[in-house]
Amino acid sequence: MDTAQETGNLTGIRQIILVLSGKGGVGKSTISTELALALRHSGKKVGILDVDLCGPSIPRMLKVQDKAVHQCDNGWVPVFVDQEQTISLMSVGFLLEKPDEAVVWRGPKKNALIKQFVSDVAWGDLDYLIVDTPPGTSDEHISAVEALRPYKPLGAVLVTTPQAISVGDVRRELTFCKKTGLRVIGIVENMSGFVCPHCSECTNLFSKGGGEELARHAKVPFLGCVPLDPQLTKSLEEGQDFIQEFPKSPAFPAFI
Ligand code: ADP
Repeated sequence: MDTAQETGNLTGIRQIILVLSGKGGVGKSTISTELALALRHSGKKVGILDVDLCGPSIPRMLKVQDKAVHQCDNGWVPVFVDQEQTISLMSVGFLLEKPDEAVVWRGPKKNALIKQFVSDVAWGDLDYLIVDTPPGTSDEHISAVEALRPYKPLGAVLVTTPQAISVGDVRRELTFCKKTGLRVIGIVENMSGFVCPHCSECTNLFSKGGGEELARHAKVPFLGCVPLDPQLTKSLEEGQDFIQEFPKSPAFPAFI
């Protein structure tokens, strides 16, 4: 057993990346999941910490929703997603008795669980830990950032859709990062145009370019656009590895 499993903390993790979004439904968990899968495909060992306590969707996206975490002497052992154990996941979803059970907790209990997730999961050695956070800038975010600070996270990826409302919410995320001293790795514009699966024509269902414009304005890197892709929705619904299964899909180039 390696060092980190012995101590059950994050010391065996090289880089920690938080994924933030101003509002729900913009694709934060999608980006967290695909980022983890993309890193795995480039030969990295990756963990995902799902601290979106009220909407833990990653277990389903990775088709491990029926698995359970178990305790070892050093804390919780995360769920391995693949046989090779190159991608592991810890989520509140694994602690619920029924998958559709609601987490109706007050702030202090949520904050305590986040701290416990940071201190008590035996990840072992990882190249990357991706932390999927709840939408917005709540107490839970402050708890996560404070608990992770000793491990010097690489920074945060901010996810937005192109519309002005979502972009406006990301402005608040930028302020949050500034106030908490969390570096902004960059902004991803998700659901950026719909590429027709039949004729490959891209239609901008919503306005386009809001994320890129915000990045320019805020002087942070723009990491790219992910189109709205029905095959991506389907692969997430069915817990498939999108990058492996749909290399010809319009959203594929965004993840490699
Ligand atoms: P959030 O974590 O921000 O609440 P999710 O990642 O759960 O949002 O995404 C919300 C829904 O949108 C999911 O059903 C997901 O499959 C779908 N989705 C997200 N991004 C895309 C995309 N680029 N193309 C197609 N479907 C997407």
